[in-house]
Amino acid sequence: MGKFHIWTIGCQMNTSDARRLSQELEGYGFEETDARGSADLLVLYSCMVRQHAEDKVRTQLGELRKLKQEKPSTRIAVAGCVGDVDEWQQKYPFVDFFLEPGRDLTVRARLADLIELDQYYRVEPADAARAPRVSEGITIHQGCNRNCTFCIVPSTRGRERSREPEDILAEVRALVGRGTREVVLLSQIVERYGRDLRPRVTLAELLARLNEEVEGLERVRFLTSYPGDFHKDLIEAVATLPKVCEWINLPLQSGDDEVLRQMHRGYSVGFYKDLVARIRERMPSIGMATDIIVGFPGETEAQFDNTLKALAEIRFDVVHVAAYSPRPGTPAAGSSDQLPLDEKKRRLRAIEALQKEVAASRNAPLLGETVEVLIEGEAKGKWYGRTRTNKLVHIASDEPLAGRLVDARITQTGPWSLQGELLSPASAEHADGVMAAAAV
Ligand code: SF4
Repeated sequence: MGKFHIWTIGCQMNTSDARRLSQELEGYGFEETDARGSADLLVLYSCMVRQHAEDKVRTQLGELRKLKQEKPSTRIAVAGCVGDVDEWQQKYPFVDFFLEPGRDLTVRARLADLIELDQYYRVEPADAARAPRVSEGITIHQGCNRNCTFCIVPSTRGRERSREPEDILAEVRALVGRGTREVVLLSQIVERYGRDLRPRVTLAELLARLNEEVEGLERVRFLTSYPGDFHKDLIEAVATLPKVCEWINLPLQSGDDEVLRQMHRGYSVGFYKDLVARIRERMPSIGMATDIIVGFPGETEAQFDNTLKALAEIRFDVVHVAAYSPRPGTPAAGSSDQLPLDEKKRRLRAIEALQKEVAASRNAPLLGETVEVLIEGEAKGKWYGRTRTNKLVHIASDEPLAGRLVDARITQTGPWSLQGELLSPASAEHADGVMAAAAV
């Protein structure tokens, strides 16, 4: 039977899609290999969101070109975010398949692009595929119908499409049956999930079904949110559904109304702050992350200061900051007002310095507190996992803890992570269930 190799870069959606594809390939008896030269099928999950990622993808394609020359029988596919497919086909004619965005979201349909399924005998993935992680991302919705002027996603991922709830529930049940304890529902705008389905389904309804119908699932998260679509029913779902974690990733992008207008973000800073106030009123201890772009074309010093002020006022737990990267074909890339790279880097560092202080002061009150941690793995002699509010905790213990939900007392806090001591594994009944599943 054949061998395959998958290379992935970019967002969690690519990781999730690559996992589904590899499980399906293993289900057909294919074997994963790290050695590209011995692979019969090579799949590259591409990202175009920033220049840096695109450069890496093109470097990979250069290497695959050589590999194809040496071994013409290797089949090569490119998936994930791809720019203009016609242009890519001309530039990289050795690629056998482009798994274009906008196509069927079922993994079986994607697979049918790669191999002739009829030739293969299907076995249950559980018998074949490697164990999933404790926390797994699951793509529930792809594409974006908005047109933020900096963003290439609408042209690389296409219009919005949702997966059927039953398909998602089946995937989650299969993962949980094999050791996963937490799922992160992924989409470019996760709140728009289900609008294209008939009958329509909301994200809050999907969360409720996952909460109630998947035994053994401990936690659910979702990302990425869009402020204009974050409605009351979702706030209530996060506040009331026990398995849904108190954590939200809500991109602000800029703290200046004029920059937001030029970005076509569709909300003001005031609207955003009101939304955060409503969320925090309902859930005072919720963890909040945001995304910020610095150095958008024409961003003045005063406009950048407004972003610093907004971040100092809202006080997020985590800020993902990126320097603006012109993406081909997007409106902002054509602006003549591009900022020098050095200036973008200076602004980026200023935000990182501010956030270091904010995060440290937000984490400091956790000292001495007891938190629930889902242990994801071990690194450098300590177990690590996350609280419900998505804070990273390191715990020393001789007990094997992977996959377990434990209580820990926080002994040290810092801006990026916490240290904790194990109080007790969670209740025996609970821990046994997790261990049995984690051992599969
Ligand atoms: S909402 Fe997000 S994915 Fe859609 S265009 Fe804007 S930044 Fe891109």
